[in-house]
Amino acid sequence: MQNTLSVSRTQRPLSGKVALVTGSTSGIGLGIAHKLAEAGAAIIMNGFGDPKDIENVQTAIARDYGVDVTYSGADMSDPMAIGQMMTMILAQHHSLDILVNNAGVQHVAPIEEFPIKKWDQIIAINLSSAFHTIRGAIPMMRANNFGRIINVASAHALVASPYKSAYVAAKHGLLGLTKTVALEVAETGITCNAICPGYVSTPLVEAQIEGQAKAHGISRDAVIRDVLLAQQPNKRFATVDEIGALAVFLASESAASMTGTSIAVDGGWTAH
Ligand code: NAD
Repeated sequence: MQNTLSVSRTQRPLSGKVALVTGSTSGIGLGIAHKLAEAGAAIIMNGFGDPKDIENVQTAIARDYGVDVTYSGADMSDPMAIGQMMTMILAQHHSLDILVNNAGVQHVAPIEEFPIKKWDQIIAINLSSAFHTIRGAIPMMRANNFGRIINVASAHALVASPYKSAYVAAKHGLLGLTKTVALEVAETGITCNAICPGYVSTPLVEAQIEGQAKAHGISRDAVIRDVLLAQQPNKRFATVDEIGALAVFLASESAASMTGTSIAVDGGWTAH
């Protein structure tokens, strides 16, 4: 009996923790939500999608991992909605231990044709939303002297590619925010780090494969190898489970001394 208990504690290092994952109705965010729940954390999901699908995912995660799963439909481009979400979390959960800023969108166009609305939207969702959630989360984390802030940035937080001006600017900005927050809370039990994936197999990337295949008039396979993974030496997409496993580690006690850093999960892309 004692053995069983100690095994289950070891396997569920995040039991009792509450985690918000923005943009967790799809792709990387959903993968992170699964892994944090598997590690024992209660999950607050966020993101867009069909309400029935979201309810089904919520139920499945709660059932499969035996954790509490709630959902906020807050629009990450709207500071008021983010503020209301943080107030709801304080009222319902009384704390927030793990904050994963993951919601993100992409638009690809030459700078002189880049739609102003798209620029504003990408900066709001991919960068400013993290400012608003972190601002709301820090008082709750300070009260517990524990917090793990994990910003899902990108290899594009470290290097640039043409036609992605807003995305690259937002992700570089997110890395600057990560470092600044880490320094401000360095003497508390709160850490703030960035995960910088290269290409990960998700709906966001799937849409790019289709778009690039049409634009270049080439096959899907050619787009994957010669266009998307041209910069990625290992020539494979990372999986959402790999990113989720890293998020679990960063959220754990073992990562207490890691802060203000960026971890590339990019198959060697930024080693160039
Ligand atoms: P995705 O399109 O599969 O998921 C994006 C999520 O964000 C969805 O849940 C969506 O509903 C949510 N979202 C979008 N706009 C929102 C808004 N206004 N308010 C609330 N939620 C919103 O994309 P993904 O590939 O899983 O990307 C997730 C994050 O990972 C993004 O920040 C992206 O920049 C980053 N990233 C992805 C890759 C990749 O190859 N897929 C690589 C590097 C970084």
